[in-house]
Amino acid sequence: MIPSSCRAAVVRQFKAPIEIEEVPVPREIEPGALLVRIETSTVCGTDVHLWQGSLTRKVDLPVIIGHEMVGRVVALGSGADRDSLGRPVKVGSRVVWTRTHCGSCYFCTSARQPILCENARAYMYENIEKPPYLLGGFAEYGYVLPQSGRVLVPDDVSNELASLASCAFRSVMNAFDELGEISTTDTVVVQGTGPLGLLAIARARVAGARKVIAIGAPDARLAIAEEFGADECLSMERTSAAERKAVVQAATNGRGADIVLEFAGHPSAFPEGIDLTRRGGRYTTVGLLGTGEVQFRPSLITNKNLKVIGAIGGEEKSYWKALDFLSAHQKRIPFHRILSGSYKLDDVNTVLQRMKDQLEVKPVIHMA
Ligand SMILES: [Zn+2]
Ligand SMILES: [Zn+2]
Repeated sequence: MIPSSCRAAVVRQFKAPIEIEEVPVPREIEPGALLVRIETSTVCGTDVHLWQGSLTRKVDLPVIIGHEMVGRVVALGSGADRDSLGRPVKVGSRVVWTRTHCGSCYFCTSARQPILCENARAYMYENIEKPPYLLGGFAEYGYVLPQSGRVLVPDDVSNELASLASCAFRSVMNAFDELGEISTTDTVVVQGTGPLGLLAIARARVAGARKVIAIGAPDARLAIAEEFGADECLSMERTSAAERKAVVQAATNGRGADIVLEFAGHPSAFPEGIDLTRRGGRYTTVGLLGTGEVQFRPSLITNKNLKVIGAIGGEEKSYWKALDFLSAHQKRIPFHRILSGSYKLDDVNTVLQRMKDQLEVKPVIHMA
C-alpha cells in the first residue's frame, strides 16, 4: 500500500535545524512520471550548501533536502514503462533519475546540450507545498518528473554505489566525455582526491592512460587513490607546487602532463593545473564552483596552445556510464572505500554537520 504521506527531511529556514516532517505522497502520477520508494541517498557537499543558504540556484523553501538517491518504482504514470535506454521499467525496478530538460529551448534543441537547459527543474529546490511534493532525496518516497531521464540500476550495483552514480560519478563520466579520447601514451594528472577525484583516477586508469598521477590530501585519501589506480600520489600537505611540477616533468620527459583534470575545488588548482599541462595538452575543470577568484596569466593558454574544458553535471548517458562502470569494475576497484558513515533519516542534522566539519567523505543515509 502506498501511504498518503511519508517522512522527509525538510529545510524551512537556512542554517536552522532540519525537521523530519510528514509530506503528502501525490495521489496521481502524471503520464511519464514515476513514484519511487527511496531506499538510499548519499550526501553531497551541495546539500550542505543548500542547508547553509549559500547556493546561487533559487531554493523555494520549504524543500526536501538531498539529491543523490536511488529508488524502487512503486507506481508508474502512463507511458513510463521504459527507461532512457529503452529498457523495461516495472514496479520493483531500481532507478536513478536526472534533473529535467524541456526539449524545446535553444540549449535542448539547436545546441543539443540539454545539460544547459534553461527550464531545467532540479531535485531538492522545489516547494513541498506544491504537487508533486516529493522532489528531494532525503525522504521515504520520491517523484520522478516526466521530463527527467531515468536509468535502471544493474542488479549487482548496491544502493550506496548507485546513489554515488547519480551525482558524483555521473559528473566524472561527463567530464571524460567532454575531455575526449585518452591515449595509451597519455600521462594524466588528477587534482583532488575527494569522491570525484578518486573516481576520475579509476576512470583514467581503465581508459588506458600510461600513467596516472594524483594530487591530494590527506594521506588516508592518497592511499585510496593508489587502490583506485594512481601510479603516483603527491600530497598537498607535504609537497610544494614546484616539487609537484618537478615530479610531473620527470614523468613526461620534461613536457608536462598530456591531460590534467581538476576535481580539487580550490581556485588555486587552476593556475597550477595549467602549469602542469604540457604544450598542446588538455585541461578540464569540474570542481571549481562558487565565487572564488585567482590571479592568472591567460597568455599561458595561448602560448601553450592549450585546450581548456569546463564540464558540469551529466545527462542520462553519464548516469548509465557510471552505473555500468561500477558494475563492470567493482570486483577490481574498491569503490565502497569512498563511502564513509552510515546513517538513518533521523540523523540528518548529525550527518550534515559532520559533512560541514569535513568529518565525512561520502556518507550514506538508508531510508528504511
Ligand atoms: Zn551531489
Ligand atoms: Zn531546455
